Amino acid sequence: MELSAGALLLSLLRPDMEAVLRQCLPPEVELRYGTALTDVANRSDGVTVTLQDGTVLDADLLVGADGIHSTVRRLVFGQESRHLRYLGLHTAAFTFDDPDVHAATKHTFCLTDSIDRQMGFYALRDGRVAAFAVHRSADPTLPDDHRVAIQRAYAGLGWVTPRALEQCPPAVDIYYDQVAQIELARWSAGRVVLLGDAAYAVSLIAGQGASLGIAGAFLLADRLAHAPAIQRGTAEFERLWRPVVEDKQRNARSMARWFLPSSPIDLRIRRVMLRLTRMPFVSGYVTSILAGEDTKLTDVMRQASGTTATPMVA
Ligand SMILES: Cc1cc2nc3c(=O)[nH]c(=O)nc-3n(C[C@H](O)[C@H](O)[C@H](O)COP(=O)(O)OP(=O)(O)OC[C@H]3O[C@@H](n4cnc5c(N)ncnc54)[C@H](O)[C@@H]3O)c2cc1C
Repeated sequence: MELSAGALLLSLLRPDMEAVLRQCLPPEVELRYGTALTDVANRSDGVTVTLQDGTVLDADLLVGADGIHSTVRRLVFGQESRHLRYLGLHTAAFTFDDPDVHAATKHTFCLTDSIDRQMGFYALRDGRVAAFAVHRSADPTLPDDHRVAIQRAYAGLGWVTPRALEQCPPAVDIYYDQVAQIELARWSAGRVVLLGDAAYAVSLIAGQGASLGIAGAFLLADRLAHAPAIQRGTAEFERLWRPVVEDKQRNARSMARWFLPSSPIDLRIRRVMLRLTRMPFVSGYVTSILAGEDTKLTDVMRQASGTTATPMVA
């Protein structure tokens, strides 16, 4: 875990964050792993959910926080293709062991300086290296073999990338997906509400998807606790949160050009921008933008009862 820029940015791995969230759950919350939803019956006074193993559960509200490829969304709001906006990029992430690459990338997030494809490296505390890759592709279709696709797409990039590609794990240990956003006309229908990437994925370009998931969950809980009826709570959550999210989605789309340069000119401009961020004043400004300081997000969180602005996860 690393804190930087006056504790505005907190960098941590997703499994660590999940573990912390799990530890915070009250004992009466029951967790079930290795199962999935197969059916949702949405009624005006409640919701009935059927699980893969045949279990039937009745609840007042179903919160679909099941990610960008949400099953809850498909079952209640229709096919994914109606809501997914492909941003023209494929992305992948994996970890590997290499003491030399670990030493070379320690304390820094290193990116290749390249056009239309880019790899990033980050040394983890346990000695492994996290690799992150993104490349342009007009075709949103995902490849059958992720390892082979990565080795092809990033072949020829210099520095430590040949070693990373050589040590790329089998497909089962690789994260591989389209870079996309989710846009829905409504986030709730009756007694079902979507949350996080399932409702409003902003994409990795925004760098705030986890924050928007967690802060959104807080706001939803807060609005439900204060609403006279469940549907009023979910509507109020959406009224407050949608402008924040749509702002992030717009920013991410306009940042895509700098996130992955597509021409030598873009690459040169990005180099200048990155050099500027090393200057103390500019660095603080960029960090405050990344952290969401003085944005609609913190305004909304302040409005929610009893909250003050907190560092955002990036
Ligand atoms: C490469 C990459 C880098 C990123 N970097 C950042 C970053 O630096 N900062 C940041 O804030 N965000 C980042 N993001 C975005 C961030 O990961 C997501 O926005 C965030 O994880 C969304 O959280 P979520 O809980 O909504 O969905 P998810 O994290 O996708 O969680 C959904 C959960 O639902 C489970 N699930 C799915 N389907 C079912 C089902 N049918 N039944 C039961 N469970 C199910 C999944 O197993 C998963 O555990 C990045 C994303 C990518 C792809």
